Amino acid sequence: MLTPSRYPYDDPQFATVPKADAFREAAVQLGLDWQLPPLAVAFASEPGGQPGLSLPVIEPSYGNLHGQPRLTCRLCGECDFGCNYGAKNSLDHTYLSAAKAAGADLRTLCEVQAIRPGGPGYQVRYLLHAMDGSSVSKRIDCEQLILAAGSFGTTRLLLGNRAHLPGLSPTLGSRFSGNGDMLSFALHTRRDGRPRTMHASRGPVITSTIRVPDEVDEDGSVGRGFYIQDSGYPVILDWIVQNMDVRGDLSRLAGFSLNRLRAALRWAGPDHLEHGIGQLIGSGSLSNCSLPLLGMGRDVPDGVMRLRDGELDVSWTTETSRTYIDRVRGTMKDITSALGGEYVDNPLWFRKRLAVAHPLGGAPIGRHPGEGVCDPYGEVFGHPGLKKKKWRRHAGAGGCEPLTDDRRDGRPSLRSSVARARDGGEVARARWSAPFRGNDAGHSGRTGPSQRGSDRCSRPLVHRGDGRPGHPR
Ligand SMILES: Cc1cc2nc3c(=O)[nH]c(=O)nc-3n(C[C@H](O)[C@H](O)[C@H](O)COP(=O)(O)OP(=O)(O)OC[C@H]3O[C@@H](n4cnc5c(N)ncnc54)[C@H](O)[C@@H]3O)c2cc1C
Ligand code: SF4
Repeated sequence: MLTPSRYPYDDPQFATVPKADAFREAAVQLGLDWQLPPLAVAFASEPGGQPGLSLPVIEPSYGNLHGQPRLTCRLCGECDFGCNYGAKNSLDHTYLSAAKAAGADLRTLCEVQAIRPGGPGYQVRYLLHAMDGSSVSKRIDCEQLILAAGSFGTTRLLLGNRAHLPGLSPTLGSRFSGNGDMLSFALHTRRDGRPRTMHASRGPVITSTIRVPDEVDEDGSVGRGFYIQDSGYPVILDWIVQNMDVRGDLSRLAGFSLNRLRAALRWAGPDHLEHGIGQLIGSGSLSNCSLPLLGMGRDVPDGVMRLRDGELDVSWTTETSRTYIDRVRGTMKDITSALGGEYVDNPLWFRKRLAVAHPLGGAPIGRHPGEGVCDPYGEVFGHPGLKKKKWRRHAGAGGCEPLTDDRRDGRPSLRSSVARARDGGEVARARWSAPFRGNDAGHSGRTGPSQRGSDRCSRPLVHRGDGRPGHPR
C-alpha cells in the first residue's frame, strides 16, 4: 500500500539533485556500499510508470480522504514538514484513506485517557477536544483495541492504565532506543579548490544511502552497523543557514563599508556600487555547499520509560552506545573529507545528546511476559484483543527508518493481527524479505562500489521465520 519506489536517479528530469551524485562519489572514493533506498514517494503517476515531475497521481480504488488531487514529486525538499503536493504516500493517503473507504469511522481531536477491560473486550475513555479549548468526556466499547499512539504515547497509556490491566509484563517501559539516530553536517564542501554545490534543499529529503555492515551480517563484519543518508531541508532553511554565517557576514560588511568610504573619498577609481552589493550579499556558499548527514543504526536499546508525576520520563544515556556513535561519526567525517568539506557535529552533541526522529521501544515484543509486553503479533500478553501497533517485529533498534523496516514484506504486523482475529486465531507465519535490496531489479543500476546490495539491511533482526522475535542488543 505504501508503494515504495527508488529515486529515479537515471531519469533526466530527476538528474538534477547534486547531493545524490556527491554522496555516490564519496561512497566510491571510500569503498562504501551506496544504494537508492525505496521511498514512499510517488515519482510516477502510478507504480511502475514513467517518472515525471508534478504529474497527476492516479489514485488507488480507495481514493484519498482529503478529496484533493495529488501530484508526483517536484523535488522541493519539504518532506521534513509534510508534502503540500500529495507526493508522499503518507498514512492519510494510504491506510487511513483505505480504512475510510471501507467504512471506518475516523475521529480526530480525541485523546485517550483510560483503558479498562470490560464489555465485549475493552472500554476506552477519551476526551473529545473542541477548537475553543473545551472538551467533553466520551466512551467507546470494542472487542479489539489496537494502541497506535507511537512509542511514547502507547507506552504512556499502558503505564498509566497498568493498575487496571493486571499481569502486564515487568518489561513495560524498557528497551527504549533512538534507533541510532545521528545528525551531523558537512559544511563548505569543495572540489578542485572551488566550492562544490550540494543544493540540500533540492530533492526528497532522503535520496541515497550508504550502508556500513553489521556484525550480525555474519560475513566477518565487526561492530554495530548503520546507514548514513544524504539529508535535505526546505529552501526556507537555506536562508536561515546562510544567516548563521555571522563571521562571513561581518567580514563582507566591513569590506563593503571600506569600499563605500574609499569611493566617497575618491581614493579608488569609479564607484562600483553594484559589484559592492554583490560582494556584500556573498556567494551563499554556506547554504549552497553544505549537507546534513543522517545516521541511523543499531545503538544499544537500554533506555527506560517511567511515569513521574503522571508525565512520561525517559531515562536514556548515550554512554553505552559510545562505540557505535563514534563509529558513525568517524564515517561521517570520512564522507565529509571526501566531499572536501568541514565536519560539524549536531550542536546537541556538545552535551552528549542526540536528536532523535525514530524513538523506539517501551512495549517490547517477547516470547513470554518475562521477555516482552506483547507477542510477535503485537498482542499484549494476558490481554486478548489488546494489541500494540508495531511497524517492527523486534524490540531493539533496527537501523532503518521504521517504515522501511517492516513494509517490504507487504505484511505489516497490524495486518497480521487483524487477519489472525478474523481467521479465528491463526495466521500463516509471516515470510520475511529484506527491505533495502540494493541490487534488485528496482535499482537504478548505478550501484556503489561493493555491489553487495543491502539485503542485509534488516539483519539486526534475528528473524527465525517462525514468528519468534530475536533480540540482538
Ligand atoms: C522529522 C522527522 C522525519 C522522519 N522521517 C522519516 C522517514 O523519512 N522515514 C521513516 O520511515 N520514518 C521517518 N520518521 C519517523 C516516523 O515519522 C515515525 O517512525 C512514525 O511516524 C511512527 O508512527 P507511529 O504511528 O508509530 O507514531 P506517530 O506517528 O507518533 O503517531 C502516534 C499518534 O498517536 C497520537 N496519540 C498519542 N497519544 C495519544 C492519546 N493518548 N490519545 C489519542 N492519540 C494519541 C499522536 O498524536 C500521534 O498522532 C521521521 C520522523 C520525524 C520526526
Ligand atoms: S521533495 Fe518531498 S515534499 Fe517535495 S514534492 Fe517531493 S515528496 Fe513532496
